[in-house]
Amino acid sequence: MNSPLYGKFRVSQGYKGVSHKGIDLVGIDSKEIHSTVDGIVEVARWDAKLGASGIDTKYGMGQYVRVKEENTNYRYYFGHMSQILATPGQKVKKGDAIGIEGRTGNATGSHVHYEIRRTTSNATFLNVSELSGIPNQLGIYEQNETADTDPDFEEAKRKVQEKAGLDDNTMRYLQEYRYGKELIRKLAAAIG
Ligand SMILES: [Zn+2]
Repeated sequence: MNSPLYGKFRVSQGYKGVSHKGIDLVGIDSKEIHSTVDGIVEVARWDAKLGASGIDTKYGMGQYVRVKEENTNYRYYFGHMSQILATPGQKVKKGDAIGIEGRTGNATGSHVHYEIRRTTSNATFLNVSELSGIPNQLGIYEQNETADTDPDFEEAKRKVQEKAGLDDNTMRYLQEYRYGKELIRKLAAAIG
């Protein structure tokens, strides 16, 4: 399973094709949204319908982030954020925090709308449940963040933990921090 929310989360609305092109997830253990792929942030802003009075904050995906996957044309959409933690042009690794779950845009409650398209075209949406392994069924699931990780990062983490004599909880805390993964990689490189 490759979910943008770690720990326990709830599927609040399934993928239904044209009538619901993504899957809706509600964080239980954490509201932090993580990139599910390595790629480039192409969009990080309001899904704007600009009117005379400015942005309509109840429109579409609200504050959202779009990531283009490295080496493919697939676009990953993360909608309705309360806070965006990424900037356009930024390179992201799978697992990097890119936002905080919220209810901006056309949303009745706090959740992340997670959608995958083959291109940026609205008509090329894919079955996000099949691609991510997140069950297309309402219920509570759990993603163990260490289940499917990048071996280079694991090596960096091991090195930093050992050298600094940190416990597992501290490492987890560090990793969850906005620039934590980047910091761990840099520390590991400094240790050599
Ligand atoms: Zn949705």
